[in-house]
Amino acid sequence: MCENCKTPQLNMTRRNTLATLGAGLLGPFLASALPRPAAAEEVKSAGQSPREILIRGGYVMPVDPTMKDLVKGDVHIKDGQIVAVAERIEASGADVIDASEMIVLPGFVDTHWHMWDGLWRGLVNDATDYFNRHDLLPYYSVEDHHTAVQYAALEAINAGFTTCHNWAHGLRNYDDMEAELSALQEAGIRAKLSYNGVIQNVPTPAADFQRALEWIAAHGKGRLGLGMTLDNAGEYFKPQVELARKLKLRPITDHGGFMAYPDVIGPEFIFTHGAGIAPEAVALIAGKKLGVALCPSTDPMIGAGLPPVYALIKGGVPLDNISMSIDVTCQSPADPFAGMRTLVNSSRIQQVEANKLTGDLLGIAHKGLKWAFSYRDAIRVGTLSGAHVLGLADQIGSLTPGKRADVILVRTDQPNMLPAANTNPAFQLVQHAAPTDVDTVIIDGIIRKRQGKLIGVDVHAVVEKAARAQESIRKRANMPVLNTTL
Ligand SMILES: [Zn+2]
Repeated sequence: MCENCKTPQLNMTRRNTLATLGAGLLGPFLASALPRPAAAEEVKSAGQSPREILIRGGYVMPVDPTMKDLVKGDVHIKDGQIVAVAERIEASGADVIDASEMIVLPGFVDTHWHMWDGLWRGLVNDATDYFNRHDLLPYYSVEDHHTAVQYAALEAINAGFTTCHNWAHGLRNYDDMEAELSALQEAGIRAKLSYNGVIQNVPTPAADFQRALEWIAAHGKGRLGLGMTLDNAGEYFKPQVELARKLKLRPITDHGGFMAYPDVIGPEFIFTHGAGIAPEAVALIAGKKLGVALCPSTDPMIGAGLPPVYALIKGGVPLDNISMSIDVTCQSPADPFAGMRTLVNSSRIQQVEANKLTGDLLGIAHKGLKWAFSYRDAIRVGTLSGAHVLGLADQIGSLTPGKRADVILVRTDQPNMLPAANTNPAFQLVQHAAPTDVDTVIIDGIIRKRQGKLIGVDVHAVVEKAARAQESIRKRANMPVLNTTL
C-alpha cells in the first residue's frame, strides 16, 4: 500500500479501443464423476521431488490463448519443464498425482509486493498506520529482513502463488538485499527482487547491483531475477534507469513518479496501484506499453478506491499488461482468488457506473450488459499477464509445453465449490475458491505443497519466528502499546 492514490477521478468515457481478449471458454466442467484415489499418495519432501511427474485426470486450464481447456486431461512434467499437455499421456517413469476433482492451472504471479513489511501484521489498521510504521525500519536486523521475506514467501506458496515480485523498498544496504534474496531462494519460490536505485538520497552503486546479479547467478537456480525501484529518485532517476538498462534489470518501477518522464519510460516499467487514475495516465500507460500492477486487496482496504480495471481496458491497455499484486500482507492476506474476485467485481461496478445504472438493480439485470472483463480475463491477469509484466512470459504463466513447470492444483470437492458436470470452472475459481482449496503447488518442477500441506518447511516454526521478530523490533523501537479496540 503506497502513495499513489492522489490522482484525479477517472473518466469512464475514455476511448474504447480494446478488442475483447481471452473470451471465455465456457466449456463443461467435470464431465463425469471420477474415481477417488484408492489410497493417499506418498507425500515426499521438496528435496526428494521426483524428476518426472504426471498430473492425471484433472480439469486442465492452460491459460495459453492458443490452447483449449481439457475437461479431463494430463500434464506431464520432466526435469522442471512442462513437456506435454493432453487428454491422455503415458509416462511410465513418472510419479502420478491424481488430479480428479481438481482444476490444474498455472501458478499465480504477483507483480508488486513489499515483503519486508509483512511483519507488521496486526499493527497497521489503515494508511496512516502503514506510513507511520516505517519508523520501525531502523530497528530491523538483517536477519529480520530474511525472516519477513521467508514468512511472506511461505504464505505466497501456500495460497498458490508460484512467482512474486519482492518490491523491496525497505532495503538499507547490500546485506539486507542478500538476506531477502536468500529467503526467496530457500523458500523455492520464483521471484524478482527489485532493489532500491536510491537509498536515503544516495544512488545505489552499480557494484552493488553487479554483486547482486553475481549472487543470483551463483545461487538463484534460474528462479531469481533482479529489478530496480526508483521512488523519490529525483536527479538520479535518469542515470539509474540507464544503469538498470545496461545491467538488463527488469522490472524498473516506482509508485508513479516516473510518469513525469515520458521520454524515458518503456515496457520494462511497472506502474503500481492506480485507484482513481486520470485518463491522461491511462493513455500514457497504453502508449508506452507499461505494465500495471493493480492492488485489489489493499487499495480498497485503506479507502483509496477500487482497482481501475474498466478504465484501463477501455483506455486501450492490453490484458497482457495488466497484472495483479499483493502489495502488502500486513493489511490483507496473499489470496489470489480474492484478488481476482475484486478485479472482476470492480470492473463490473465501474461498467455499471459508466452505463449510469448505479443503484438500479432491475436496470442492471435487464440491460443485458456484456461484461468487459470476464472470469477468464481475471485468471489470465493473475497468471500469464503477470508473467508478461515481469518479462517472464517466455518461461512461465501458462501450461504451454516447453515452459517451466509452475503449476497448481485447486480442489473442487470442498464445501465452497461444486464439481458438477458442465458448470463454469473459471467462474468457480474466481468467485468461490480460496487458498485452502489449493491442494498442490509445483514450482520449477519441484513439489512445494501437496495434499494441502507445505512440504519441506516447518510452518509453525516460521510463523513463530515472524511473531518473535515483530515483538523484538517493537521492543527495540520502544513502540507504544497499541489501541486494540478498533
Ligand atoms: Zn507499493
